[in-house]
Amino acid sequence: MAHKFAANEIRPRAVEWDRDSVFPLELFRKAFDLGLMTGFIPEIYGGQGLTMLDTCILEEEISWGCSGVATSMNANGLALGPILLAGTGEQKRVFVQPFATEFRFASFCLTEPGAGSDAGGIATTARRDGDGYVLNGRKCFITNGVHASQYTVFASTDRSRGHKGLSAFVVPRETPGVSSGKKEDKMGQRASETSDVLFEEVRVPEANRLGAEGEGFKIAMRTIDYARAGVAAMAVGVARAAYEHAAEYGRQRVQFGQPIAMNQAIYFLLADMATDIEAARLLTWKAAWLADQGKRNTKESSFAKAFAADLAMRAATDAVQIFGGYGYMKDYPVEKLMRDAKLLQIFEGTSQIQRMVIAKETLLR
Ligand SMILES: Cc1cc2nc3c(=O)[nH]c(=O)nc-3n(C[C@H](O)[C@H](O)[C@H](O)COP(=O)(O)OP(=O)(O)OC[C@H]3O[C@@H](n4cnc5c(N)ncnc54)[C@H](O)[C@@H]3O)c2cc1C
Repeated sequence: MAHKFAANEIRPRAVEWDRDSVFPLELFRKAFDLGLMTGFIPEIYGGQGLTMLDTCILEEEISWGCSGVATSMNANGLALGPILLAGTGEQKRVFVQPFATEFRFASFCLTEPGAGSDAGGIATTARRDGDGYVLNGRKCFITNGVHASQYTVFASTDRSRGHKGLSAFVVPRETPGVSSGKKEDKMGQRASETSDVLFEEVRVPEANRLGAEGEGFKIAMRTIDYARAGVAAMAVGVARAAYEHAAEYGRQRVQFGQPIAMNQAIYFLLADMATDIEAARLLTWKAAWLADQGKRNTKESSFAKAFAADLAMRAATDAVQIFGGYGYMKDYPVEKLMRDAKLLQIFEGTSQIQRMVIAKETLLR
C-alpha cells in the first residue's frame, strides 16, 4: 500500500511540490486516512502498533516517492517518540492518543542556533515557577514547526549541569508565548517545511514534563537512537530511486553505438549501487529489529544512518553522472534526488556525528 501510495499519489506531483516549495497538506491527510502517518502508535492508544521494522519498510517506500514528503510524515514519530519512551500512561493518553484519531502534526524541538551537533549545549531554559515551568528560548530548523499542534521541547532546568541539566516538556501550540518563524528556503526536500519555533515566557504545568528533571538529554538520545533507523530507511528509498532511474536511462541512452550501461565504467557504478542498497537495507532492518526487541541499538542505528545516508548521496551523484548533461537539468528526476539526499547526511546527527558515536561504541569503549 505504501508503495502504491508513493507511485500514484506522491511521484506524479513531487516535482511541482519541490519547484514551488509546497507543503502538500491534502496528501498528508490522505496518508493519515490510510494509516501511513501514525501507524507506530501502540494499539492501546488507538494506533496500529506497527513495529520499527514495519515503519522502516513503509519509510523506504514513501521516500522512494519523495524524501521531503517522507521527512514531514516521519516527524510525528520523532516528536511523539519521547512521550512513548518516557511518558506516563496518562501522558501517553493525553499527548499521543489524539494523534491516532485526528490528523495533526507534532514537532521535535531540540536544535538551536548555538547547539546543533552539540545538543547538550542548548540555551532554552525552563524556570521552575509554582506548580509548573516557564520556558524561554529559540529552536531552529524544526520540521513541521509551522503546522504542529504540539511540540516536544528540550530545555535546561539547571544550566550549571550542562547536558545533565536538560529536561523534556510537551508544549501545546496554543499555549501563550509559542510562535513559529518563517519557513526556511531549502536546497532540497522542499515539500517538507522547516522553521524556527520560539518560546517566550511559555508556562507549562509540571504534568507536561517527561521523566524526571535532568533526564531530557537521555530521553532525546534514546529517541534519536530509535529514529535513526527511520532516516536510514528514507536514505535507502532515495538510493533505490537513484539506482532505478540510472539503470533505466543507462539501458536506453546510446552512445558509440551501444547503450551506455554496457560500458564497464557505468555498470560497475550500478553494480556498486545495487550492492550498497542491499547492505544499507539490512543494516537498517537490523537496527530496527533490535529496537523492536527492546535492545539497545545505538551502534547499529549509527551504522545504518551513516552508511545509508552516505550511500544516498553517492548514488544520487552517480545517477546524475550517468544521465550526463541531462542529469543536471530539472527536466530529469535525478538532480532533485541529489539535492534531497544531502539532508540525510545532516539531520538527526550528521555523518561525522554518527562516526563519533560508532567510535565511542567500538574502539573507545
Ligand atoms: C531540513 C532540516 C530539518 C531539521 N529538522 C529538525 C527537527 O525537526 N528538530 C530538531 O531538533 N532539529 C532538526 N534539524 C537540525 C539538525 O538535526 C541539525 O542541523 C544537525 O544536528 C546539525 O547541527 P548544525 O546544523 O548546528 O551543524 P553543526 O553542529 O554546527 O555542525 C557543522 C559541521 O561540523 C561538523 N561537526 C560538529 N561537531 C563535530 C565534531 N565534534 N567532530 C567532527 N565534526 C563535527 C558537523 O558534522 C557538520 O559537518 C533539522 C535540520 C535541517 C537542515
